[in-house]
Amino acid sequence: MKFDILTLFPEMFAGPFSDSIIKKAKENGLIEINLIDIRDYTTDKHNTADDYPYGGGAGMVLKIDPIYYALEDITDNLKKKPSNILLTPRGQRLDQKMVKEFSKEDHLILICGHYEGVDQRVSDNYIDYEISIGDYVLTGGEIPAMVLVDAVSRMLPDVLGHADSKKNDSYYRGILDYPHYTRPRTFKGMEVPPILLSGNHQLIDRWRKKEALRKTYLMRPDLLKKTEMTEQQKELLEEIKEEIEGEPKK
Ligand code: SAM
Repeated sequence: MKFDILTLFPEMFAGPFSDSIIKKAKENGLIEINLIDIRDYTTDKHNTADDYPYGGGAGMVLKIDPIYYALEDITDNLKKKPSNILLTPRGQRLDQKMVKEFSKEDHLILICGHYEGVDQRVSDNYIDYEISIGDYVLTGGEIPAMVLVDAVSRMLPDVLGHADSKKNDSYYRGILDYPHYTRPRTFKGMEVPPILLSGNHQLIDRWRKKEALRKTYLMRPDLLKKTEMTEQQKELLEEIKEEIEGEPKK
């Protein structure tokens, strides 16, 4: 899968994209990440990529023309048009479902805003998705672009060491992940739940399912309403409610 990232600050991406799983995915040819400096597509001698807002007010606005020329250059000879994503706090909030959908595409172009944002005509004419990574405002779209690339990349086949690991991750199947433990078995009097040492895989599996549901019930009950649960999950949830709230079974 190919990611083209339009940014005023390509150097910001060096760290997150040159370590760990993303680094390996690049080395193994599973993903390609191209950083495109918007300034390279400016047309004046000062390389102006941003300008004062019409109507006045604080901050600078990223200009439409360099972004247009960059997009034109990237897509010029392509048979299939990639999806263009603008990172913006005014966008649709990114979730795992959207991440899975994006991972089915072959080529994404991400546009990082900065300062006050990007000339609205970019959104109106060249953007397929406006994406926000949460209800807060960052200084630029670079970190949101890193978040999106990371989240989408780990959905791709062979990017993660264990193909199945992502399936138990939080949100993959709608609910949160179960708790994980590793050695030492006892640390400062804190024990690992004995069931995990029992060797009984059926009981371990049931315990994990139940603890995943417990965490979701306590932290994100909204997710339970949206998740289609198995009969076993429904039973486990009733057990949890009884344990926590003493609620009678329905
Ligand atoms: N004036 C804009 C607003 O209030 O909607 C905020 C601009 S923000 C300071 C500068 C850039 O950071 C945005 O153009 C966008 O690319 C990026 N950005 C900031 N917060 C973001 C978020 N939560 N999700 C995605 N991108 C974000």
